[in-house]
Amino acid sequence: MSSLPSGTHKARKRFGQNFLQNQMIIHQIVEAICPKKNEHLIEIGPGQGALTQPLLDAAEHLDVVEIDRDLVQQLKMQFAAKPGLKIYEGDALKFDFSTLKKDEKPLRLVGNLPYNISTPLLFHLLRFTPLIQDMHFMLQKEVADRLTAQQSEKNYGRLSIMTQYHCATEMMFYVGPEAFHPQPKVESAIVRLIPYRKPPFHCVSLARLEKIVCQAFSQRRKTLRKSLRHIISADELIRLDIDPGLRPENLSVKQFVIIANSCT
Ligand code: SAM
Repeated sequence: MSSLPSGTHKARKRFGQNFLQNQMIIHQIVEAICPKKNEHLIEIGPGQGALTQPLLDAAEHLDVVEIDRDLVQQLKMQFAAKPGLKIYEGDALKFDFSTLKKDEKPLRLVGNLPYNISTPLLFHLLRFTPLIQDMHFMLQKEVADRLTAQQSEKNYGRLSIMTQYHCATEMMFYVGPEAFHPQPKVESAIVRLIPYRKPPFHCVSLARLEKIVCQAFSQRRKTLRKSLRHIISADELIRLDIDPGLRPENLSVKQFVIIANSCT
């Protein structure tokens, strides 16, 4: 069974609908995911089923979460003969992914994500990392660059630090706009996120880490001495062996965790 022809559904901008058309890219993505029988795969935003079909062929069971009611109806018809597919109509930003975990199998999340909500969606998904084996997402290249950026690189920021606290991140490959219909105005990329069973640096309060990272990057060009002055003194930073003259992009995830743990 093939995905529906692109002409039957008018792509909705508000749902970030850019449907994958290029079979070679689809094959490359599925190969990177490497789905196996009896694994618990979950696809966010199945759309017209471009990835759904090959994922279901390989894994035999697949849960999908789709917000667009019309596409849900299309998927129900398209996959009527496939009892292994469970379709959940809803907003992935509000979806409680823990409700999908029914047995000991960890969750494998995949999706060509709607670019307009990808950052809040990634933050939402980080709440479920203890249940997740891995995540493979198509994202706007710029967001993928931020996810995988290392300390002192230009794209390193809040998203890099909060994601890399929970997950090992890997840039897989880039995808050009011509692989989609309609074509997005930006380049895309596939990233792999693998949650740590135990984060390498334990943070006592994630809310505090988030607050400190947010505060530091709200004034990216300023030194920590200035941007964090209401949270931690320069003397205290020196005591933690962190130079208060540094900018936030110069700090590692570990150093942000050390600051957060010292602010009890
Ligand atoms: N997977 C399909 C493909 O690769 O061709 C579609 C990808 S398209 C970029 C994003 C999909 O996510 C669309 O089907 C869209 O309707 C769906 N979507 C958008 N916002 C969503 C949300 N908040 N929750 C769940 N699905 C959403």
